[in-house]
Amino acid sequence: MTAPVVTLLAGGVGGAKAAEGLQASRYADHAAVIGNIGDDDIFHGLTVCPDIDTLIYSLSGQIDREKGWGLRDESYQALEGLKAFGHETWMTLGDKDFATHIYRTCALNSGATLTEVTLGIAQRFGLKLPIMPPTNDKVPTQIHFDGQWHSFQRYFVQHQCQPEIDGIRYQGAEQATATPEVLKQLSNSDIILLAPSNPLVSIGAILAIPQIRQTIQNSNAFVLAISPFIGGQTVKGPADRMMRALGKAANNIALAEHYAGLIQGLVIDHQDKEDQAAIEALGIKTYCLPTLMQCLEDKAQVVSASLEWAIKQSTTSSATEEALL
Ligand code: GDP
Ligand code: CA
Repeated sequence: MTAPVVTLLAGGVGGAKAAEGLQASRYADHAAVIGNIGDDDIFHGLTVCPDIDTLIYSLSGQIDREKGWGLRDESYQALEGLKAFGHETWMTLGDKDFATHIYRTCALNSGATLTEVTLGIAQRFGLKLPIMPPTNDKVPTQIHFDGQWHSFQRYFVQHQCQPEIDGIRYQGAEQATATPEVLKQLSNSDIILLAPSNPLVSIGAILAIPQIRQTIQNSNAFVLAISPFIGGQTVKGPADRMMRALGKAANNIALAEHYAGLIQGLVIDHQDKEDQAAIEALGIKTYCLPTLMQCLEDKAQVVSASLEWAIKQSTTSSATEEALL
């Protein structure tokens, strides 16, 4: 296979780690990232896309590495001013970050699509790797707790993922139209990689758009995921508690069941080697390697090794198919 086309589906923190690994790999020139927009929300009248911005800020090296979101060397004067006006300020938006949200909102108000606006922001931050929203429609993820539906950011940021949840829904996803850019990207892909992102609210919100799921299912690409679970836990965030709240286990086997019918391969951490047989019994190939990504070298290593393994798997299976014909 010459210069395989790679598409990454990604959420925020785990998604950005994989995206940074992809950007640093030899596959970067023929790759693109589809980001989650289920977490998008309006604050102070401005459209905020937390996962897309985490991707762009991480890939440009301007992210606050300690927090894992927002820009580094931030100040919060605009937010303090808004607080004095009585606005809710639990969503911590920095002064430099506000410029992104003001630019995005102005452009959307002038009739630009989210795809165009995201391209504009990625260019302003000097990215070469294309970052695409799956749709130009609104598809907000909602979380059910305390007897009612709440926006994802209220659950995640305001309530710090503390409430016991009993439902997740992807509002508008059924009716949403995938963008032509994303459909073309997926159809042309040799490898489709699901980042080690939250399977329910990051990857789940992208796959909830029927055209996206169908296009992945119909593509000839080798589809694989990197697991966000290491030793039956998430590295960060509520994915383990969310899986359990919805009656699933928080481990690689439950993840494989969740992605069954969509993925052909699953990359799991070397300490979870004992999960291999159960996953392969579902017809999903497995690959074990250390998947904790703490520095750029780790990210590049995990992504490059996963993609190389995927290429080997897809060439082996097409050779077998040809031999069977
Ligand atoms: P969010 O949108 O910021 O919540 O981030 P994502 O959905 O993209 O990623 C959250 C997931 O990333 C969590 O379930 C973590 O377990 C996973 N994650 C974070 N860092 C790592 C890592 O270094 N290795 C692996 N395998 N998973 C990770
Ligand atoms: Ca997110």
